[in-house]
Amino acid sequence: MRSIWSINDIQKKDKREPLPEHISAAVIGGGMAGILCAWFLMESGVDTVVLEAGTVGSGQTEGTTAKITSQHGLIYSRLTETMGAEAAARYAQASQAAIDQYERIVDSAGIQCGFKRMPSYLYTECGDGMKKLEQERSAAVRAGIPASIVYDTGLPFPVKMALRYENQAQFDPIGFLYGLSDSLKICRHTRVLQVKGHEIRTDRGTVKADHIVFASHFPFPRWPGFYSARMHQERSYVLALETEDWDLGGMYYGIDPDGLSFRNAGELVLVGGMGHRTGEGRIKDPYGELEKRAGNIWKKAEIKASWSAQDCMTLDSVPYIGVFSRLRPYWLVATGFGKWGMTNSMVSAMAVCDAVTGQSMKEWELFSPQRKTFSVSYKTFVKEMGHSIKNLAVLGGPRCPHLGCRLQWNPAERTWDCPCHGSRFRADGELLDEPSKKNIKNPGR
Ligand SMILES: Cc1cc2nc3c(=O)[nH]c(=O)nc-3n(C[C@H](O)[C@H](O)[C@H](O)COP(=O)(O)OP(=O)(O)OC[C@H]3O[C@@H](n4cnc5c(N)ncnc54)[C@H](O)[C@@H]3O)c2cc1C
Repeated sequence: MRSIWSINDIQKKDKREPLPEHISAAVIGGGMAGILCAWFLMESGVDTVVLEAGTVGSGQTEGTTAKITSQHGLIYSRLTETMGAEAAARYAQASQAAIDQYERIVDSAGIQCGFKRMPSYLYTECGDGMKKLEQERSAAVRAGIPASIVYDTGLPFPVKMALRYENQAQFDPIGFLYGLSDSLKICRHTRVLQVKGHEIRTDRGTVKADHIVFASHFPFPRWPGFYSARMHQERSYVLALETEDWDLGGMYYGIDPDGLSFRNAGELVLVGGMGHRTGEGRIKDPYGELEKRAGNIWKKAEIKASWSAQDCMTLDSVPYIGVFSRLRPYWLVATGFGKWGMTNSMVSAMAVCDAVTGQSMKEWELFSPQRKTFSVSYKTFVKEMGHSIKNLAVLGGPRCPHLGCRLQWNPAERTWDCPCHGSRFRADGELLDEPSKKNIKNPGR
């Protein structure tokens, strides 16, 4: 199932550059994070190539709902509680700066991608949620974001309370990426198989790079960095609806356990939800369930497209952006965006560019993969370890080539999904999503 961003087949226009022998910077992955990193590096005069296994934006970015916001669920109350008010303020500043950077690039490069400023709302339909929104408002205001409580929204159903952030934005992510791509060196259909020191082995030959940026969504080297022990993936589902009452006047994210996400794309309404850990979907038919929920809101609605995607979740809810590992100071990483990868990809681009050009990384310390947040992370870490051990111990069935966990059949997508780290395979065993690097043989569907 393809998203509304990709159905116009703009990706077919991708050109394939010859592989360079030696270059200043190589970015692995041509999604939102990789293309923005390459763009910033190029702007700073660093000779850069993007190595992309498929086509630009064909990874999770194709499945995003593309809200460009500093409103990431209840992030400011969570960060204030776990890492302190200063960390929350740093996160807010970085996210707000990222929105402004999108506007700057769209204007300066003249990109036609429907970039539009508009308010963004968190909403609740239950009493418990009201207290959480009050707390989030205080934390957001303290972090420097002018957030206000409102009771009326553009949603076609009543809410108990909503939290409004001004001057956020939305766009068409694939249109944006293709607007940038023409001025970049991109080797599409070039899969990286192995990285050893400065040497990148691909299925088309080898490239040497002074700096290597892992923007491949889930960084695939098992060592160093140990990202598999520090992240899991979560999936969610999106419908694009044609309906009469389509104008929502903003973007929305429900904070209740079964809350939905909404935005307009042209005259369509995008409805997202039914999220779950990859490989552990409890709802048999998430698209059917989403359709039912949407049908309760809009009596007459036609589904124009439906799709799903997944994202990496870190132990402490902050992405891993910066030096991959102290053992490889010339490797950089951008991952763990927690379903907020538009602003976080831009933060990655700014931070990675500073690292490669030798600027101070003080501003980006919060995001450093080497940060010491054990008191916040250890409980999630122990849970993750238990989870992996449990799925390793289950007998039989197809196994994930990444670390050997038992794969689960996902009937909604007809894929084999790994509950440990989120690798996914087609019914015939072909690899869809990393961190696995290999197909599986005869999975039995
Ligand atoms: C349903 C859903 C809705 C979302 N909505 C929003 C939203 O509204 N706002 C928001 O901020 N965030 C949102 N997100 C999150 C956001 O979409 C992601 O965080 C973001 O798209 C990730 O971008 P990326 O560049 O890291 O990954 P990707 O887009 O997956 O890019 C990685 C690229 O690397 C390539 N690659 C992988 N391995 C290799 C290799 N070995 N060699 C070469 N290339 C390789 C892949 O082909 C891929 O193109 C949403 C997520 C989901 C699941």
